[in-house]
Amino acid sequence: MVVIGGGPAGMAAALAAHKAGARVAIVEREQHPGGILRQCIHPGFGLSHFKQELTGPEYAQRFIDKVHATDIALFLNSMVLGIDSGEPAEDTAVHTVTLMSPAGMLQLTGRAVVLAMGCRERTRSEIKIPGSRPAGVFTAGLAQRYINIENLKPGSRAVILGSGDIGLIMARRCTLEGISVEGVYELMPYANGLRRNVKNCLDDFGVPLHLSTTVTRVIGHDRLEAVEVSQVDERLAPIPGTERIIPCDTLLLSVGLIPENELSVAAGVELDPRTRGAVVDQSLQTGVPGIFACGNVLHVHDLADNVTTESERAGAAAAAYALGTGAGAVPDCELTVSPAGIAGYALPGRITAVALTKLNFRVRRPVDAARVRILAGGVELFAGKVRPFKPSVMESFPLPAKVIKQALDLGASKIVLSVDPIEEA
Ligand SMILES: Cc1cc2nc3c(=O)[nH]c(=O)nc-3n(C[C@H](O)[C@H](O)[C@H](O)COP(=O)(O)OP(=O)(O)OC[C@H]3O[C@@H](n4cnc5c(N)ncnc54)[C@H](O)[C@@H]3O)c2cc1C
Repeated sequence: MVVIGGGPAGMAAALAAHKAGARVAIVEREQHPGGILRQCIHPGFGLSHFKQELTGPEYAQRFIDKVHATDIALFLNSMVLGIDSGEPAEDTAVHTVTLMSPAGMLQLTGRAVVLAMGCRERTRSEIKIPGSRPAGVFTAGLAQRYINIENLKPGSRAVILGSGDIGLIMARRCTLEGISVEGVYELMPYANGLRRNVKNCLDDFGVPLHLSTTVTRVIGHDRLEAVEVSQVDERLAPIPGTERIIPCDTLLLSVGLIPENELSVAAGVELDPRTRGAVVDQSLQTGVPGIFACGNVLHVHDLADNVTTESERAGAAAAAYALGTGAGAVPDCELTVSPAGIAGYALPGRITAVALTKLNFRVRRPVDAARVRILAGGVELFAGKVRPFKPSVMESFPLPAKVIKQALDLGASKIVLSVDPIEEA
């Protein structure tokens, strides 16, 4: 079995597969395993998995040690260039993974492949900020790498655009490193990161958060000199007359992550336009038999602990497929899963077995009171408790086997996961 990516997702998948009896190789393009956690030197990891608060490198090291204690083959400094699944041939399909390594170009073959390539950050060009193109505009994760790994200081006076968790963590890191943070500016009328990060990273360090405000111009020739910020209306359009100039030499962008799926698409894997990750079934298998996906390449996670749990499932299922002991058997059913109401996505997108199924979803906007409902063929099969939901939190919902059976008995081909706000009376 070949695992692509040696971050927390790849390592957890590889360890679970190894435990299930598979022969496993991990391919990682960096010199070290650990993925993005190597640069996340702040605490907050491991609270659910290890019941202990760890930094990112500490969390990663626990898995690196476990991998080293096994005979899992680790190909470092090795970039996967492509996956060739050949003709889908019965149950003996073999995938060929081509990689470029210090030893030259290599090909590994596996009965199963786990995609665990993580995600990348959205850049200035993806959100189209007008203005000149001076030095000093960074994605927040790149600045995090400069400071925490390369020991480089990106600037002295920063503005942060976007209140996602990476932006909030970087507001605190910059402050601690002696970089003055003028403020965090957020397009939406609410903060996008976890509540605990708003408190620990902004409130505790006196960094102001400006909601419903965005950067509307980048100013500077060789180096950034200032940004123009404007308030936005309810349609998120800048309001003329509200422009302010904020002098700064650094603009950090924390404006979203995109699953790194070029390899997946080239391998014929279908993507869900909502998650920008693969469409998978309940065992996290993509539409290409024997190719599984987990972690941030599948959907963006806020907590590494959730990445680990999900990836252990993918690794165990991929091993069962590779060893011919489980997934990949004749499906029990074929149901699609769709989001509705304020649910932005629902994962898995397909259900092929009548069994307890973990559904993940995220809402598109915060609400104080809403209810999860499961529907099939226009009939409500389940209604959850009324409670608040936030876009920053990835939710999970255990879909009982009996609800899947009820949907099939109704002749439905689709299960709908709807999150419906309860309007005030
Ligand atoms: C900048 C940034 C900061 C973050 N900070 C936090 C945080 O503070 N706390 C938190 O809980 N979460 C944070 N996250 C979320 C974090 O990404 C996840 O919690 C977790 O690290 C995802 O694990 P992963 O293994 O899916 O991805 P990653 O950790 O990104 O690992 C993916 C690995 O795949 C490798 N790879 C990709 N393509 C190839 C290829 N073609 N060939 C070989 N190898 C390849 C990459 O080099 C990388 O090592 C952050 C994410 C980013 C992008």
